[in-house]
Amino acid sequence: MYRSQNCGELRIDHVGQEVKLSGWVASNRDLGGMTFIDLRDRYGITQLVFNMDTDAGLCGEARKLGREYVIQIDGVVRERSSKNPQRATGEIEIEVTGLQVLNASKIPPFLIENDTDGGEELRMKYRYLDLRRDAVQSNIIFRSQVAQAIRKNLSAVDFVEVETPFLIKSTPEGARDFVVPSRLNSGQFYALPQSPQTFKQLLMVSGFDKYFQIVKCFRDEDLRADRQPEFTQLDCEMSFVTQDQVLDTFETLVRNIFREILDIELPSFPRMQYDDAMKYYGIDKPDLRFDMKIHHINDLAQGHGFAVFDNAESVVGICAKGCAVNYSNKDIKKLTEWVQRPQIGAKGLVYVKYGADGSIKSSVGKFYDDDQLKTWGEHFGAEAGDMLLILCGEEESTLKQMGQLRLEMGDRLELRDPSEFKPLWVLDFPLLEWDEESSRFHAMHHPFTSPKKADQERMLNGDHETMKALRADAYDMVINGVEIGGGSIRIHDRELQAKNFELLGFTPEEAEDQFGFLMGAFEYGAPPHGGIALGFDRLCAIMRGQNSIRDFIAFPKNNQGRDVMIDAPSPVDGEQLDELSLSLNLKA
Ligand code: ASP
Repeated sequence: MYRSQNCGELRIDHVGQEVKLSGWVASNRDLGGMTFIDLRDRYGITQLVFNMDTDAGLCGEARKLGREYVIQIDGVVRERSSKNPQRATGEIEIEVTGLQVLNASKIPPFLIENDTDGGEELRMKYRYLDLRRDAVQSNIIFRSQVAQAIRKNLSAVDFVEVETPFLIKSTPEGARDFVVPSRLNSGQFYALPQSPQTFKQLLMVSGFDKYFQIVKCFRDEDLRADRQPEFTQLDCEMSFVTQDQVLDTFETLVRNIFREILDIELPSFPRMQYDDAMKYYGIDKPDLRFDMKIHHINDLAQGHGFAVFDNAESVVGICAKGCAVNYSNKDIKKLTEWVQRPQIGAKGLVYVKYGADGSIKSSVGKFYDDDQLKTWGEHFGAEAGDMLLILCGEEESTLKQMGQLRLEMGDRLELRDPSEFKPLWVLDFPLLEWDEESSRFHAMHHPFTSPKKADQERMLNGDHETMKALRADAYDMVINGVEIGGGSIRIHDRELQAKNFELLGFTPEEAEDQFGFLMGAFEYGAPPHGGIALGFDRLCAIMRGQNSIRDFIAFPKNNQGRDVMIDAPSPVDGEQLDELSLSLNLKA
């Protein structure tokens, strides 16, 4: 037997008991007469004491133990004279009577402590040591709890967990596929799934009715911050459901999980139209932890001789509370430079300050008198001390810029509290997006998304302009400005699906070649169905108030898509390439 208890288990009522513990040496302090060792495992840390007076030999051995040695000890639990209230085991220590080294350790390349001295790259190279740190380990354990809670909750309402294949044919979700060469089918390739989308729809045709899977998805995207080429989704699909029923089911799931795991009662999720999200928040995933809605002030601002506003399609603003006092001219200049950065792309920034003393100052004071600017303030609900920030230009891009500025001001004013949760549903996304450059439509969600019932007729018979206005039964779940997941009611009718592929620029042959299996299945009694996928890594991160999904993945890839621990991707030898019939292709 290696242990009678773990390192997080012993309390004051164990005093006097003989115990056996195993774990890693977290620290070793030699105080002359006594040596203290912190013994660590995944459950906690227990203090061990070796006394020079009682057993000089044993104490001498203990002094030699290096960090991260794996040891096993026998000893007696006793009450500590100086207690450590920060630690669950802080009231006791173990007076050690026997010590065995189970394995030595080299000096680790960084401190295995929450406040480590190891940089990102080093920690990734030695991820197995990084994972020993409580800060990271507890995230992975948390993730496991969330997965268990999801399984329990979904099984309780009759969902069936089904695994779908990884070696498949391409499913377009808007990214590139990772491909796998087939040895047995020379010159042919599998694609790794960007999501199990078509398979879960086929499961509905099979009659499974409610499906879920916690599943890896693979997307070969240009890596943006905090994107992983392989990530995990909670993927779900249901038959004979309306959009409302899908939303209710997954709202209940997420609320249950927050309650069971965090003891947090989420409010019921407000539902917002996509158009309203864009209009009032300048983004399709509004952060509702703070208000600061976008106001449209064309009526107030135009027709007073200020050409920049007069010529703009859209003049919009937000009210930043308390900023009239805190923002000097220099600060405003810096903020102006911030909105002018290429990532944001605004031309300029107009401000109106409502001073605490009732004075009004504005960068457009030449064009508007105090009475007019006062009316603006009333429109925004501005109080003394507040500042309006105003942008103008072409509507769509100006709203997006204002959405970014709103988030930035939310950050600066510390209105985005990571311990607060503000979920919502964003609904009724456009079905298609027109891309000027390639002069074709893209699916806003994916090609299997159904137009709203009222739009189906128009989709089958309408002209080009009609297509731009089609709305879909598509929805996103958003928490704190982060898209947690999205889904849609699907097309289950062959004709409508074929029409969608046609609008997306597929010839009938291409559609048949790539998706004949799905459209074929629709001819054998496909039930109406819909579903959703939640980003599982992201859900875990958000629940713990953290930003990076990487900290919730046991073995993540770095920003270049590399696993620096195992050194992947890496070249394969010529023989392997020959077997896969790839060497010729490479040479060619
Ligand atoms: N397959 C979709 C996605 O990965 C989710 C869904 O429509 O259910 O975003």
